[in-house]
Amino acid sequence: AIDVQELHKYFGDNEVLKGIDFHVGKAQVVCVIGPSGSGKSTLLRCVNLLEQPTSGKIFVEGEEITDPDADVDKLRARIGMVFQQFNLFPHMTVLRNLTIAQEKVKGRGKDEAVEVARANLAKVGLSEKESAYPAHLSGGQSQRAAIARALSMSPDMMLFDEPTSALDPELVGDVLAVMKDLATEGMTMMVVTHEMGFAREVGDKLVFMDGGVIVEAGDPRQVLADPQHERTQSFLSKVL
Ligand code: ATP
Ligand code: MG
Repeated sequence: AIDVQELHKYFGDNEVLKGIDFHVGKAQVVCVIGPSGSGKSTLLRCVNLLEQPTSGKIFVEGEEITDPDADVDKLRARIGMVFQQFNLFPHMTVLRNLTIAQEKVKGRGKDEAVEVARANLAKVGLSEKESAYPAHLSGGQSQRAAIARALSMSPDMMLFDEPTSALDPELVGDVLAVMKDLATEGMTMMVVTHEMGFAREVGDKLVFMDGGVIVEAGDPRQVLADPQHERTQSFLSKVL
């Protein structure tokens, strides 16, 4: 579970998150939508401590990660993150991309790391690509490899920041299918996305952000069909 309380983030004088509160329950999928610049990525990056919140508290499984004494590396290893750009290591095979952090961060032996990696490649449908280099993968395959890499760290939860936005339209479905499987298996997930169909079908909650605040949140079907706020209505009228 993730709990965010009164989260504020400034970049210099620019207040990008203006008091964010929300809860992601265990095995819940929370989708985050909103216009460009509304603070969606900054919010995700704060949850993973890739950005330091200016004030407020974040709890992961009840542990305060914003506590100055928290073990940041240990906490970060519990949270998998997938970005729009896949960020695979170009000079390593797919398999090595999936084993290196297991060995260096998790302290797993080579055999165990390979076993975990192969199980996750199978899960995302990429078993036959384990010896390939990233340059020889399609965008959709790259993103599925990036998801498998994050899963290989055995995270408690996964954060996705527009995981399909850089993909050709015909490759989006495969990646969303992998994410849907994960949700079905009970993975706790926060997903920044423009895929309203995914939000409606897979999301337990939909959060609409604008200008650094949560304008509206609720059941995805409800929010998409009957948005209560003018800003939500205006945004949805442009994207639906
Ligand atoms: P998009 O849909 O385009 O990805 P977003 O909702 O993810 O937008 P953020 O990337 O969180 O928005 O950015 C929110 C605001 O914070 C923007 O005004 C952006 O310019 C600013 N910002 C983000 N990262 C930084 C940074 N490292 N330094 C300074 N300003 C930043
Ligand atoms: Mg963003």
